Order: sequence, then structure tokens, then C-alpha cells
Amino acid sequence: MNELVKLFEGNKEVIRHTGWVITDPKSYEWWDGFDSADKIVISAFLVQLTKWESVKRVIGTLEEHGLAKVDSIAELDLPTLESYFRPINFYRTKARRVLNFAKFVKEMGGLNKVLLLERRPLLLTQEGVGEETADSILLFAGHQPVFPNTEYSRRVLGRVTGQEMKKRDLPNFVYHNVQQDLYLYKILHAGLGAVGKAFCLLTKPKCDRCFLKQVCEYNYR
Ligand code: SF4
Repeated sequence: MNELVKLFEGNKEVIRHTGWVITDPKSYEWWDGFDSADKIVISAFLVQLTKWESVKRVIGTLEEHGLAKVDSIAELDLPTLESYFRPINFYRTKARRVLNFAKFVKEMGGLNKVLLLERRPLLLTQEGVGEETADSILLFAGHQPVFPNTEYSRRVLGRVTGQEMKKRDLPNFVYHNVQQDLYLYKILHAGLGAVGKAFCLLTKPKCDRCFLKQVCEYNYR
């Protein structure tokens, strides 16, 4: 895994191009340069089945109106929030989910009381928060040491190691092979996601252009 980390660090610009910024372990900027936990959380709800570019536009509009904060959203009514989310797929459902989540966060006393590893079971009871979303916001907005289980990570890691890897195997694989460390979890998630998006396609991976080809078992089959 150390070799992978070095390759990700050596290809920061390629990774940046896919929306991940390799930076300090406790910075929010990993998440496409965002500057707050609130923006990461709101965008994590919006991005499901939606283009990232549309999500960024909506976050920009919320910011222009002073609403890119969970506690500001908790004060809005649903039709108003829907009007901001209109460019997003399933905007009505997502507006309801974000509003409910914002109210939940307010009741709990703020994001810093919610984005804690011990609150993960509670997070998972919220509408629209599956394991991938919960772990992504815990890691990148809450700086909690948890590794999100994504299809990109499973596919790339499975091919690189030459192991048949089911999605449920991924977190254990990481926890057994990587020391518990925020920076390592973040760079691995970002790097594997970037490679999965840019090169390691489900069919016809672009191995000739991929910067992992020198360490990838799949490439030499
Ligand atoms: S070399 Fe090919 S199979 Fe291996 S990670 Fe890159 S794109 Fe995927």
C-alpha cells in the first residue's frame, strides 16, 4: 500500500482533475477544494445520481445566499430549499432529506456532535444516508478514521492486487493492511476513486494511460 500512496502523491495533478485534492490530513479541501464540513455534507446528499458539476453549481448558489451551512438550511421551508436544488436530479427527495438531516443536526447540537465515529449507527438511521455516504462524510467532513466502501476502490484495489475482492471485503482489507491514519485513508480513497474514474473502467480499462500500471497485477495478465 505504501507504493500506492507514493504513486498517488506523485500524480496529484491527475487526481486533482477528478475532484480530489491531496493536502493536509485535517483540511476540508480534499473534497474538491471545499472549505467547510457543511459544504461536504450537503454535497454528499446532492451528488447521488447527479453530475458533480451540477452539485458544485448549487453549492455556489447556496453560498451566494449565505445558505451553505447546515444550520441555515434547518431554518428554511421545504419549497424554498427545493427551489435551490432544482438543477439536481431528484431534487424534491433530496431537499426533503437535506432539510430533515439539517434539523437532526441542529437537535444534536451541531455537525461536530454528529460527525463522530460513535454516531455512525445514528447517522445510518437518517434518510438518504447509506454506508458510503456516512463514511465519506465521517472521513472528509468529520476527520474520523473510517474507510468508505466504494465500488471504485473495490475494483481498482482488486485489480491492482490481483485478488478477487467483493465489496464487503474492502474495509477489512484496508484495515488489515493500512495503519489507522487519516492521511492514509484519505489519500487511498481519493487516489483509488480517481483511478477508477479516469482509467480503471468497468469494461476496457485504460491501462496504457494509468499511472498504476507498473504495480498492477491486472495489467500483466
Ligand atoms: S493498470 Fe489497468 S487494471 Fe490496473 S488500476 Fe490501472 S486501469 Fe485498472
